[in-house]
Amino acid sequence: MLHKRLMQIILFAVLLCCVSSLGSAVAAKSVTGIRLSETGTGVSCSFACPDYPYLLVKYKTADESGILVLTGRNGQFEGEIPLPCKQKAKNLKIEIKTPSERLLDKATFDLNDVKAPETRKVSSGAAAKVKDLTLTPGDKYVDYSFTAPGHHQAIVQFSSVMQKGQLIVDEQGDGRFSGRLLLPCANAKDSVTVTVSGLNNRKLASDKVRLLFVPPDVSYVAEEGPLKGVKVCLDPGHQGLEVHGGRVHQYPGSEKLVSGGNSTMGQGAVTLRKESIAVLEISYRICRRLRELGAEVTMTRWVEEVSVTNMERAEYANEQGADYFLRIHLNMSSEGNNNAIYVYGPSNSPYAKAVMPIEQYRDVAQTILDAMKESTGVKGGVVRMSDQFVGNNWSKMTTFLIECGFLSTPANDWILTTDDYQEKIAQGMVEGLQAVVEGRLKKFVFH
Ligand SMILES: [Zn+2]
Repeated sequence: MLHKRLMQIILFAVLLCCVSSLGSAVAAKSVTGIRLSETGTGVSCSFACPDYPYLLVKYKTADESGILVLTGRNGQFEGEIPLPCKQKAKNLKIEIKTPSERLLDKATFDLNDVKAPETRKVSSGAAAKVKDLTLTPGDKYVDYSFTAPGHHQAIVQFSSVMQKGQLIVDEQGDGRFSGRLLLPCANAKDSVTVTVSGLNNRKLASDKVRLLFVPPDVSYVAEEGPLKGVKVCLDPGHQGLEVHGGRVHQYPGSEKLVSGGNSTMGQGAVTLRKESIAVLEISYRICRRLRELGAEVTMTRWVEEVSVTNMERAEYANEQGADYFLRIHLNMSSEGNNNAIYVYGPSNSPYAKAVMPIEQYRDVAQTILDAMKESTGVKGGVVRMSDQFVGNNWSKMTTFLIECGFLSTPANDWILTTDDYQEKIAQGMVEGLQAVVEGRLKKFVFH
């Protein structure tokens, strides 16, 4: 990210949400044919809306609530509203909203044959506190276990930004309780709070856990392909752990000392997703696509739980002998709802000048930017050749830091959680790189 005024941005985003909900009463309706039907595990939902590529479905029952981000295909939207906690809910309410939270339509659906579980009274002298609540995170679930002697049943509540719910669960003998909370709407590394209460509503225990990130399989490398023989180092920006990089020279030969560590990372205005996890997910997609075209790909990190400075990232790319070093970031702004892609290359580094003249460098950046704008449909985009990034300045190969979208823009934040939009970013970057490798530059052809 470039700007550090995160609180201001969050406040701004909250203000925006207020304004858009006021405006929702007069929003033009463009949703038609809402269809809801029960499945074994929830309610399938479909509707048509030609005006937006992505929409939010906010749902709520007496037991649970959550947010689905759906991708349209030829104006058709469909998905399943998961209801893993359905115990006493009689109906389901949904709201269809634009990614900027403008209400387009709403509907209510009657749920069939819901019987609330029979409740059993708490024994006298029952545990007043639970000391052994254990939460084990998974990909889209959290397993819980605890003992609460004297409680025959307990209320287990959970809450993440994307999904909330509560269940009445039965003792399994000797005061032991255990089970799995399904969180299909939550994202990798989302924080989930779990609270256990007795049926008398007395709180027994509470704890927090982060969901796991389970990386996709990217092991396949095509034996032949248009990028055969090309070495790419990908650099997913930031990381889960703190980093201390000290002071370093801004670029080789420069007197100026700057931070060699890592800049403040961005965070989703609405989803609260950290930039580090969103760019890691996108980087895996870029890696998979590049390898499918025969490229040799490494990454400066494959997980969240590492600490690697910007200088170390450049050194790693140099050691790998990479031909291209692509640094993947997401932007923040305090100035309104930006929707643009920024590609930054180095400007005064002697390492960069040894690679190619800076004007030619700019054309390579423009080629990648144009391909990304085409694949994502984003209109705004800028190439900047600048000294501001140590990781660019100390790289001995063609390198760009690419701000793929704005986490501070609610609409961008929502769609950046979807597989589909992340794939579009990866597709554009890879197509742009392929054009560069094949010499199909926008303005400048070099040999
Ligand atoms: Zn960043």
